[in-house]
Amino acid sequence: MKSIPEILLVDDNETNIYSLTKILDRLPVKLLSALSGKEALILAGKHNFTLALVDIQMPDMDGFETLKRLRSTPNHDQLPVILISAIYTEDQYRIKGMATGAVDFIPKPVSPEIIRAKVKVFLELEQQKRQLNQLVAELKKKNKQLAAEIKNRKKIESELRKARAKAEKNSEIKNQLLVNMSHEIRTPVNSILGFADLITNPDIEDVDKERYVHYVSHSSQNLLFLIDEILDHSRLEAGELKIVTGPCCIHDLLAELYEAFEKIKDQSDKNNINLILELAKTDKKLTIQTDCQRLRQIISNLLNNALKYSKEGEIRFGMEPKGNHIEFWVHDTGVGIAKEDLDNIFDRFKRIENISDLKASGTGLGLSLCKNLVTLLGGTIRVTSKPNVGSEFRFSLPMKMSTTEEAVHEDDEITQDTIDWSAHTLLIAEDEEMNFMFLQEALKVTGIHIVWAKNGSEAVEMVKTTPKIDVVLMDIKMPDMDGYQATAKVKSFNPSIPVIIQTAMALTDNQGKTDAQNADFDDFITKPINRTTLIKILSHFLKNKD
Ligand code: ADP
Repeated sequence: MKSIPEILLVDDNETNIYSLTKILDRLPVKLLSALSGKEALILAGKHNFTLALVDIQMPDMDGFETLKRLRSTPNHDQLPVILISAIYTEDQYRIKGMATGAVDFIPKPVSPEIIRAKVKVFLELEQQKRQLNQLVAELKKKNKQLAAEIKNRKKIESELRKARAKAEKNSEIKNQLLVNMSHEIRTPVNSILGFADLITNPDIEDVDKERYVHYVSHSSQNLLFLIDEILDHSRLEAGELKIVTGPCCIHDLLAELYEAFEKIKDQSDKNNINLILELAKTDKKLTIQTDCQRLRQIISNLLNNALKYSKEGEIRFGMEPKGNHIEFWVHDTGVGIAKEDLDNIFDRFKRIENISDLKASGTGLGLSLCKNLVTLLGGTIRVTSKPNVGSEFRFSLPMKMSTTEEAVHEDDEITQDTIDWSAHTLLIAEDEEMNFMFLQEALKVTGIHIVWAKNGSEAVEMVKTTPKIDVVLMDIKMPDMDGYQATAKVKSFNPSIPVIIQTAMALTDNQGKTDAQNADFDDFITKPINRTTLIKILSHFLKNKD
């Protein structure tokens, strides 16, 4: 709201005040009067005057003094004051008045027109001053906004630059990964092709043949490991790597890893390294609730690295319960890691090139995967290392005790040589002939009778028409009808027949898990199928039929 300008009239003579009021009362202003300088100062303390008309000749405090004091009251330091006088009309008083800060000097008797005109001019000036002040204030505000905008833009520009640099770095890293990957994949593939070709040579000795088969198998394992690592990496990136918790016997898991790595150590010509398993002494085997497969993957990765980055000495690994956690470690006496590399050793794609004379290949994904998996399992991982002395990776997981004492299939202790399943029939639903042939070969020792369905609907039909089928091994990806649908159909008319699904995709995938749960299968086995695992699972179901 626009306020009405207030004008202060100061004169000790009431008649003068009256006549000034009469002269000015048609102007759009509010007039306030004071009969002395003192009164004027009191009013100035309560109001915000636009203009003051002050008589010079007053008792106690004259007009000059009043003007001076008015100017020192709050908000009035710029107050325009017009001095009025009948006596002090000489130049020296005009000059004194101006020097004190008066904006004008009007002699008495006052001319109404002149006084009105002058007051109007000051009011206009005041209004312009106000507008100017308003403009300046707006300008200042705009300036402030502009400065903030510039600051913000600079921040965005810097963020964009950083994001671009990061994207460029990522693309560079990914290109590097592709180059690495094609090299990494080429190595085992070359070895597989080369030795597979040598095996076909009819002149080679049996011992050599055995060696070549062993190389092919070793290279295939490496290839598989590499592919799994890349797949897990992309699942993690997409936030799709899920944890499947269940009972996991830690003692058995570590013992199994010890056995596997003893073999890997031999196969990699690292026999001069001593592998030691350090198991905490507990009353009985420790079974906790965790994702056993992922835990195995973490320790395998760390053991793999320990082997890869050591030439001799020892590798110790083990576990120890600590309060409500279990601590795991993998310790080696290998090449070690320099202090400056330790901070980002868990970053994806991080590799330390040219470590000593070891030509260790890798993708730089292993440790980043380990860290992510440990985090998903609710734990933390850390490393201590010294170049040429060795490294120690330690991680701890929450110790959620399992209510089931035995881990899955732990009770299925079997010796393959003594198995005789010649009285049993297994239906294998598998569209790939090579895969079927492998399964047939793998189960030959058991003597089991095998029937083959090449797709889902054939499998359903065979279960319907062949009552002697004891168990079904069902592939998931098949033309016509997939394994989940086929399992559901089979179970709808024969709910008691055990169906084991075989899949190339780990059942940790969301969709896979849901489909699998809906299909109501009895067990699953992940491809590539390990013969021992397959026989263990089958024996579990066939045992119940004996
Ligand atoms: P990769 O082994 O495929 O290169 P990782 O992520 O497993 O990738 O390891 C990253 C890097 O950390 C390796 O390149 C290696 O330089 C270093 N590193 C990992 N484990 C060890 C270890 N036990 N001893 C020495 N260096 C290691």
